[in-house]
Amino acid sequence: MGSREVIDLEGVRATVAGLGVSGIPAAKVLHARGAHVTVVNDGDDARAREQAAELEALGVTVRLGDGATLPDGTELVVTAPGWKPDKPLFTAARAAGVEIWGDVELAWRLRGSDAAPWLAITGTNGKTTTTQMLASILKAAGLRTAAVGNIGVSVLDAVLGDEQYDVLAVELSSYQLHWAPSVRAHSAAVLNLAPDHLDWHGSMEAYAADKGRVYEGNRVACVYNVADKATEDLVRAADVEEGCRAIGFTLGTPGPSQLGVVEGILVDRAFVEDRHKNAQELAEVSDVNPPAPHNIANALAAAALARAFGVPARAVRDGLRNFTPDAHRIAHVADVDSVAYVDDSKATNTHAAEASLAAYESIVWIAGGLAKGATFDELVAKSAKRLRGVVLIGQDRALIREALTRHAPEVPVVDLDRTDTGAMLAAVREAQALAVAGDTVLLAPACASMDMFANYNKRGEAFAEAVREIGS
Ligand code: ADP
Repeated sequence: MGSREVIDLEGVRATVAGLGVSGIPAAKVLHARGAHVTVVNDGDDARAREQAAELEALGVTVRLGDGATLPDGTELVVTAPGWKPDKPLFTAARAAGVEIWGDVELAWRLRGSDAAPWLAITGTNGKTTTTQMLASILKAAGLRTAAVGNIGVSVLDAVLGDEQYDVLAVELSSYQLHWAPSVRAHSAAVLNLAPDHLDWHGSMEAYAADKGRVYEGNRVACVYNVADKATEDLVRAADVEEGCRAIGFTLGTPGPSQLGVVEGILVDRAFVEDRHKNAQELAEVSDVNPPAPHNIANALAAAALARAFGVPARAVRDGLRNFTPDAHRIAHVADVDSVAYVDDSKATNTHAAEASLAAYESIVWIAGGLAKGATFDELVAKSAKRLRGVVLIGQDRALIREALTRHAPEVPVVDLDRTDTGAMLAAVREAQALAVAGDTVLLAPACASMDMFANYNKRGEAFAEAVREIGS
């Protein structure tokens, strides 16, 4: 099966692993292309039954309550990205020489020969923001594009829908990359690499290797983070097309083949004539919303991919100006008594929280939740000098408290000892009491939210509500 031409699925016995956001569309597409489809799913609840009934009405076979056994005669497995590679179903498929594709691989294989090229983005943090920035820049250049992937619009829908695109901005998670062996982007970026999802991947090396797949077969540019050597190493390890360039982005002055920042200006020394002498001004730092350091890095990465695609400098500036970040990503909620209240509920791991803590000078930090196996020493040691005080909530707050005792013993800590939803108002009140004029109260939990909230959105909303309450 070539990776460019539309593949023939007629009569192929395909197993779809997992009902859900990717499984149902995958099952429908495979069925529509003439495959004999069986969906297997671990769960067997009311919702799964409802979904199963819908698929069965189309002629798809659904097996609920057993996602472990590979149906006899399976010739192709298409899996939901979150399914762990060590599942018995996959072991059986591998033993039988059956290919396993994720939804992204399926989309890649089914795209037509004249399909839009992909500009791909991965990394531990900043993927969604950067992908949206990139789409905004591409749109400002007059290109027909969309931000797709691990971001709300599935790649499958984008590739198979009626809309015509010139280029796609594709966010890819490490899981999706794991299951997408033949995807070849026009250009790709790995924004950063910090330990995350290690239980799924098995090790940091395996996680990095899956992220690094995004560079495989790139045609024009592999974009890496100069401040994060691991990303550059992945470029070196990748097998790319002849002539594909390694392009760095940096918050410092860029060298040749890099994008960076000079006196408040984002500049390009990569996609210019004579990059040893020339640089092209792209935008001002103040065009980036919000202009926090990590977000400027995101903007540079997006700009690098857009420039690799031939987008003019003016469109980079306009696209960045037009961009507004999604909710709960260092969102300024309100000022109360000259203290800024900022919601970065999306900072669900220590690497993200470190970036948002680096964006403010004097902070009352609200943190805690589910640690997912993380340690907090490095984060606290790096951020200690910025901390006016800390308010801890959530199940694993003791881990953060202990790190604070070790690395920031002089910083006042309020340990709320609460995991109920109402704890957020109490936390904001405690933070207000610790803050002085000019400070920032920052919700950057460094933890997942599910011990107290349905998700990080709900946690951010509770924070904003509490801020409105104390401000009224
Ligand atoms: P992702 O899609 O990778 O989860 P988002 O763009 O949704 O990334 O940002 C998630 C969180 O990560 C933000 O709320 C912010 O705290 C942090 N973040 C964003 N960009 C970066 C970056 N370049 N480096 C470190 N942390 C970042």
